Amino acid sequence: MSDELYPASRLGDAAAAAGRAGLDALLLTPGPDLRYVVGYDAHALERLTCLAVPAEGDPFLVVPRLELPAAQASPAGGLGLELVPWDETDDPYALVARRLGGTAAVGLSDRMWALMVLRFRAALPSARQELASAALGPLRARKSAAEIAALREAGQAIDRVHAQVPGWLLAGRTEAQVAADIAEAIIAEGHSRADFTIVASGPNAASPHHAASDRILRAGDAVVVDIGGTMPTGYCSDCTRTYVIGSPPADFLVYYQVLKDAQDAACAAVRPGASAESIDAAAREPITEAGYGEFFVHRTGHGIGLESHEDPYIVAGNVTRLSQGHAFSIEPGIYPGPHGARIEDIVVCTDTGVERLNLVTRELVEVPA
Ligand code: ZN
Ligand code: ZN
Ligand code: ZN
Repeated sequence: MSDELYPASRLGDAAAAAGRAGLDALLLTPGPDLRYVVGYDAHALERLTCLAVPAEGDPFLVVPRLELPAAQASPAGGLGLELVPWDETDDPYALVARRLGGTAAVGLSDRMWALMVLRFRAALPSARQELASAALGPLRARKSAAEIAALREAGQAIDRVHAQVPGWLLAGRTEAQVAADIAEAIIAEGHSRADFTIVASGPNAASPHHAASDRILRAGDAVVVDIGGTMPTGYCSDCTRTYVIGSPPADFLVYYQVLKDAQDAACAAVRPGASAESIDAAAREPITEAGYGEFFVHRTGHGIGLESHEDPYIVAGNVTRLSQGHAFSIEPGIYPGPHGARIEDIVVCTDTGVERLNLVTRELVEVPA
């Protein structure tokens, strides 16, 4: 067991997983799969960069010659992995096909561009194309100790941003102005990128994926603030808190308490052996019992790691059993209109129960109007 974030053992693990999934090779273009396997955070461009991981045989990384120095300087350069540069007039797809030889099935990274999927189909006409997640999904879903540490660091960074939000939620400012303050703080607190800054005030709080608009904040507003970014490690944060400016509507206070209890109940249900759907049910039952079931219109959560949404999804019908290392959000919401609320933490399934990675208060924060 390595305590590195991107251990050298991943290449062998990926090859073995490809074999178990019935794939002859994985073809991974820039994105989270490539970064997971060899630590290379490559630019996604039209020129082909592709890590080929045969189930049997040696892996190789095809790179445009002008990006060879960047690939060598990345963790991928230290793995003893063969780097295969191609020149501007070469056909890199034919190059991959030639080196792979005859293949019956390839797993393509889920986020590969259609441009590349179709070129690979032409270059490997006899190979069935499947998703690389068939092999890599289960590996990526269960985090190592180093990955959990990276997610914990991301959680602490976004908690520090939330701690500053009440100071920006002033009546008279717009959602967009608050979102700009938040985006700046996401970087200042250690992320390399702000991924989303949802500031949904008043009636907009009833729209779970409202972004941020020119609406002016007013006394009496509830404001859903759902924010996240990507850390230099590659690992993501995602945390939602709901704030109120001055005194909120009376019915809001009633369902906020229901929501908070439901979020606690779902967190408390996390332990090895529990199914993903049982966590969704643990959040949904108390909300339904209190009469707000029809206003909880989305799944309870999603996995998180190198992507802010990945396996395992916490939703009815997902019978996946949780085990140590699964990391995901627990984010029930109630959106009756003309206001709404959501509370979201990232949690990790431990060997005995659960660890929350977001610790900023879940008590309703009332900002003076
Ligand atoms: Zn969402
Ligand atoms: Zn979120
Ligand atoms: Zn989320």
